[in-house]
Amino acid sequence: MMRILVVEDERAIRDMIGFALKQAGLQCEESADAEHALASIVSNPPDLVLLDWMLPGMSGSDLIRRLRSDEITVGLPIIMLTARVEESDRIHGLELGADDYITKPFSPRELVARIKAVLRRTRELIDEKPIEHAGLSLDPVGHRVQTDGETLNLAPTEFRLLHFFMSNPDRVYSREQLLDRVWGRGVFVEERTVDVHIRRLRKALEDRAYDRFIQTVRGAGYRFSTDA
Ligand code: CA
Repeated sequence: MMRILVVEDERAIRDMIGFALKQAGLQCEESADAEHALASIVSNPPDLVLLDWMLPGMSGSDLIRRLRSDEITVGLPIIMLTARVEESDRIHGLELGADDYITKPFSPRELVARIKAVLRRTRELIDEKPIEHAGLSLDPVGHRVQTDGETLNLAPTEFRLLHFFMSNPDRVYSREQLLDRVWGRGVFVEERTVDVHIRRLRKALEDRAYDRFIQTVRGAGYRFSTDA
């Protein structure tokens, strides 16, 4: 059974989420603050973290930064819960490394659908073979990207995006096609989300100049190519 850690200081919301997850056959664990959540994640990592943005003490954004900067937790799927309606705030959460966000108020049905979508897309690669292009290699089973023997740590969505690009090199994909192929059909994601994850992927690759493989094709979308 998939274990979901819910980090939310408001008890009524935690209870509502816990009930919805149990109904959907998911196991739910709860933390009322980020410090407790961090300790719980380190001692027994869940399959996914549902993280409220506004928390007393350490904020949701601080916790995401901590989790994404540690190689043990960089691959942990994270969905952010936010009451913020401004697009720039939601995009900020994705820029820090969240895999998706849900805006309050949300229905239990939407919540469960989005959790399942994130779990599905982070688990789909289990049977895939390793891929290599010009010194950049990706091992889907080990969730590992290597450049010249050095391991790069990618968050789940960036990892999946890179896997898709490396499996389909030298072809241009529009944002809409990338959403379909990488995020999956029927998910409630804005096209601008693609740009945020492309930026994060390039940043992760730029130390060894592999970001040049992720190319913007003006007016059309993005392409992975080892040709400059
Ligand atoms: Ca809160």
